[in-house]
Amino acid sequence: MIIGPHLSIARGFSAAVKEAVSIGADTFQFFTRNPRGGRARDLDLMDIAKGSRMMAREGMGPLLAHAPYTLNLASDKAGVRDFAKFMMADDLARLSRMPCRYYNVHPGSHVGLGVEAGTRLIVEALNEILTGEEDLVILLETMAGKGTEIGRSFEEIKAIMDGVHQSHLLGVCLDTCHVYSAGYDLAGDLDGVLASFDRIIGLDRLKALHLNDSKMPLGSGRDRHEKIGEGTLGEEVIRSIVTHPALRDLPFFLETPNEVAGYAREIRLVRSLVG
Ligand code: FE
Ligand code: FE
Ligand code: ZN
Repeated sequence: MIIGPHLSIARGFSAAVKEAVSIGADTFQFFTRNPRGGRARDLDLMDIAKGSRMMAREGMGPLLAHAPYTLNLASDKAGVRDFAKFMMADDLARLSRMPCRYYNVHPGSHVGLGVEAGTRLIVEALNEILTGEEDLVILLETMAGKGTEIGRSFEEIKAIMDGVHQSHLLGVCLDTCHVYSAGYDLAGDLDGVLASFDRIIGLDRLKALHLNDSKMPLGSGRDRHEKIGEGTLGEEVIRSIVTHPALRDLPFFLETPNEVAGYAREIRLVRSLVG
């Protein structure tokens, strides 16, 4: 299986690759900039080359970059939308110089405009930003549905994909904590959830999973990640997810409340579930 945690690249890209190797990860996820948004640091191309060589040597990847949480393409404020578009275009330009296959974004929150109007804004923004020349895939993340988040159902994700001209550049990252909170019963009916994903979006569009346990019950609409095996999903459900024939070859990214040592233990735990 391919599994890796969310790691900080604050001490440099190659340092994060080294850290991933040291805890037995096959890959990792990182924030493109401060998760609360704002300025990105200048790329250190020497450091990126060093990290890339290390990744190639270890056979690591695919790498997943996560956009900042504050990036909201569906905001009711034009200034917030413009800043989001700027950050996303800037991220894509920077990532083109890194060995990164996927760019994960939260679709956005409509802040009262309504799902339809918000979806239109997201589609417009993506159509403005994407040129078709990108050599990575943009992953829309399935959301828990807290506040006015768009992307809490497979239909909402599909509606965005349908509107984007460069839709071949779009895929989906399924967050296990989020979909459970959004009411998809991974514990009771994993096959049914995946069948519905396949019918509405198509499983060929599913490129990665955020593998998280949850502090919240099914359908809570709340977004609270838990360590693997310690939440409302539990070890057996996690096992059924990571061994499912439709999922087991995809990369799994941990976003659980852990420090690096905790991630090392969790990676061992998940691998032991696969057997
Ligand atoms: Fe996320
Ligand atoms: Fe996530
Ligand atoms: Zn979350």
